[in-house]
Amino acid sequence: MKIEILTLFPELVEQVVRFGIPRKAVEAGVLQLKARDIRDYSSDRDRRVDDRPYGGGPGMVMEAEPLAAAIAAAKQAVGEARALVVALSPQGEPLTQQWVRRLAQEPALILLCGRYEGPDERAMGAVDLELSLGDFVLSGGELPAMALVDAVSRWLPGALGHEQSAQNDSFVAGLLDHPHYTRPEHWRGQAVPEVLLSGDHAKVARWRLKQALGATWLKRPDLLAGLELNEIQAGLLREFIAEQQG
Ligand code: SAM
Repeated sequence: MKIEILTLFPELVEQVVRFGIPRKAVEAGVLQLKARDIRDYSSDRDRRVDDRPYGGGPGMVMEAEPLAAAIAAAKQAVGEARALVVALSPQGEPLTQQWVRRLAQEPALILLCGRYEGPDERAMGAVDLELSLGDFVLSGGELPAMALVDAVSRWLPGALGHEQSAQNDSFVAGLLDHPHYTRPEHWRGQAVPEVLLSGDHAKVARWRLKQALGATWLKRPDLLAGLELNEIQAGLLREFIAEQQG
């Protein structure tokens, strides 16, 4: 997958592929990331890309022309007529695991990071999709773009080892992940649940499913409300709730 990030802070977004899974994705050859400086498309002597808002008021607005030129250059560079242009915006659809998995199927993404009050609305005609990191306002789209790159890279083939399949992560099956434990077996008076030491894979799988259902019930009941549990899942959740209440 090719990803172009259009930004005023290329050196900031480049950091995302210096560490962890995104770095592995680059090393495995399944991710190519380029940060493109929007200022390179300014016609201003001082490389300005913002101006005062029509109608007055505080803040500055990103000019349409440098944005359109940066998007066009990125499209040409990725060589994909189908490159999806995504603007990071607090007004966008919430970035969910479903979106991440859909975006991971794309051959190329162009991520547009806003600054100031955001882009001139007329530049938004070149944008296919707006995505938000949540109902809060950041000062720029760089951190959301980096979050998106990180999340997407987990789904690129070869980026995660077998032992870390993204399939087990929270939200993939509509539930939160089950709790995890590692050595030592006893730590400050707390023991690892016995079933995890049993070597019985079926029992471990049953316990993990029950804990995933329980964690979702405790921490994100809204997720459970949107799921139709099968008989086994419903039974395990009843067991978990009974244990909590007993
Ligand atoms: N005036 C805009 C508004 O209230 O809708 C906010 C502009 S914000 C200060 C500047 C840029 O930060 C936005 O253009 C966007 O790229 C990015 N940004 C801020 N919050 C974001 C969020 N929750 N999700 C994604 N991007 C965000």
